[in-house]
Amino acid sequence: MSSPRQDDIDAIAKAELDQMAAGNVLWRKRVLEGPSDSWVTVDGKKVLMLCSNNYLNLANNPELKLEAIKALAEYGVGSGAVRVISGTMKIHVQLEEELARFKEAQATITFQSGFATNLGVIPTLIGEGDVAVSDELNHGSIIDGIRMSKAERRVYGHCDMESLKEALEGASSFRRVLIITDAVFSMDGDIAPIPEIVKLAEAYASITYVDDAHGEGVLGDLGRGVVNHFRLQGRVDVEMGTFSKAFGCVGGYVAGSKVLCDYLFNKVRPFLLSGSHPPAVAAANLAAVRYVQEHPELFVTLWRNTAYFKEGLGKLGFDTGRSQTPITPVIVGDSGKAQALAQGLFEEGAFVTPIVYPMVTKDRARVRTIVTAGHTQADLDFALSKFERVGRKLGIV
Ligand SMILES: *Cc1c(COP(=O)(O)O)cnc(C)c1O
Repeated sequence: MSSPRQDDIDAIAKAELDQMAAGNVLWRKRVLEGPSDSWVTVDGKKVLMLCSNNYLNLANNPELKLEAIKALAEYGVGSGAVRVISGTMKIHVQLEEELARFKEAQATITFQSGFATNLGVIPTLIGEGDVAVSDELNHGSIIDGIRMSKAERRVYGHCDMESLKEALEGASSFRRVLIITDAVFSMDGDIAPIPEIVKLAEAYASITYVDDAHGEGVLGDLGRGVVNHFRLQGRVDVEMGTFSKAFGCVGGYVAGSKVLCDYLFNKVRPFLLSGSHPPAVAAANLAAVRYVQEHPELFVTLWRNTAYFKEGLGKLGFDTGRSQTPITPVIVGDSGKAQALAQGLFEEGAFVTPIVYPMVTKDRARVRTIVTAGHTQADLDFALSKFERVGRKLGIV
C-alpha cells in the first residue's frame, strides 16, 4: 500500500504526462547499446546517428579513451572532494592551462557541466540592482541562471540589434548591465551577430557574456570558437563553453581574465558545493583540446559534410530555416508531423530527434540534424535518400 501523499504525486504526474502525450510532446527513451559514433545500435537496431552533438566524432576516439584510462590508473575513479577543499588535481589544472592557450585567454576555469556553469556563473556576476539583457532564443540554462540571480531580465528580439539597443537605452538606471547570448542558437543553427553586440556593449558600458556551447570546436581557427571566428579576442568579457559537444565528453568552462577566473573559483556555488570531475573526465577533455589542434582536417570534413547535407536537403525541398552551422533543422510545423518524420526515419535506419514545444514554438516543430566529421559521403547519401522517401510519404516534400 502506498501512502496517500505518494498517490497524490503520482496522480499529478500522470495527469500531466497524459496531457503531454496527447500533445505529442513526450520524450521517448531511445537507448544506445554501444558508443556514440556515426553508426550506433539503438534499441537493438543499427542506425545512422544524425542527432548527437558529437561534431568532431571524438566521443569514441581511441586516443582520448587511452588518455582517460591512463588518468584512471594514475589518479583513481573519483576526485575525492569539491575543487576548493581537496578536489583539485594536477590533471584539472593542466586542462585549465591548455584550454587558456587554446582559447587565447588569460585564464580558464572548468565546471561540472555547461548547465552548471550558466547556473552558477550568471548569479555570481549580477544580482539585485542589475539587469540581464538576453536574446529571446537563449538556451534554457541561461534563462535559469538569470532566474537564480536577483537581477532583472530584459529580453530582446532574436539577433535584433535595434531591439537590443532599445533594451540598453532603457537600462541606464541599473548598477550593472550584462548582455548575454548564445553564440550559435541550438535549435536553429544561426550565429549571433557578436561584432554588433560587442560594439553596443562598448557604447553602453555593458558586460558581455557569450555561451559558445555550439561554436566551440566548430567555429574559428581549429575550433577556437566564436570570438576567434569574429577576431574579437579580448573584447568579450565572459566566454562560456562546454566539453559535452564538439569535445565529445562532459564539463563546462569560462575563459576570461585571470582575476575573473580567480573570482569565479571563490564564488560560484555549484563549483564550491559539488564534487569536481573524475580524473578520467578531465584527462579526456585535455586530450580533446590537444587533439583538435593536431587534427585540422576534422574541421574541413565537418564543414564539407555540413554543406553537402544542407544542400541535399534544400534540393529535396525541405525547409532548413536560417542555419549557418552544422545544426540543420528540418522544419515541418506541427509536432505530430515532426514525431512521424522522426519515427519514419528511425524505421528506415536514420536516427534524428523531434524537437517540439516548449523547446520551439508550437508551429515550428522540427527534427534537428547534426552531421559530424565522422560521417562519410555514403552515410550522407543514405540519410538524404531516407529523408526523401519518408518526407514524400508524409507529404512534407
Ligand atoms: C548544451 C548547451 C548547454 C549545456 O551544456 P552541458 O555541458 O551539456 O550542460 C549550455 N548552453 C547551450 C547554448 C547549449 O547548447
